[in-house]
Amino acid sequence: MRTRPGICRRKRRFATEDAALQVAAGATVALRPYKCGLCRQYHLTSRTKGMKLPGFERERRAVQGRA
Ligand SMILES: [Zn+2]
Repeated sequence: MRTRPGICRRKRRFATEDAALQVAAGATVALRPYKCGLCRQYHLTSRTKGMKLPGFERERRAVQGRA
């Protein structure tokens, strides 16, 4: 994903994808980590279209499906 410099500066950065995923797992909205080509770290985006579901969200949906 392309990131504009202004977006990169404003966004929170994570050194690893795991760190970003942990925050995404605790968030109330769907977020996906992506690697930024500018700072070479990870940011979170709410644009989830076409992105692979992280493990915690697959589990969450599986639980909801059973209810
Ligand atoms: Zn960045």
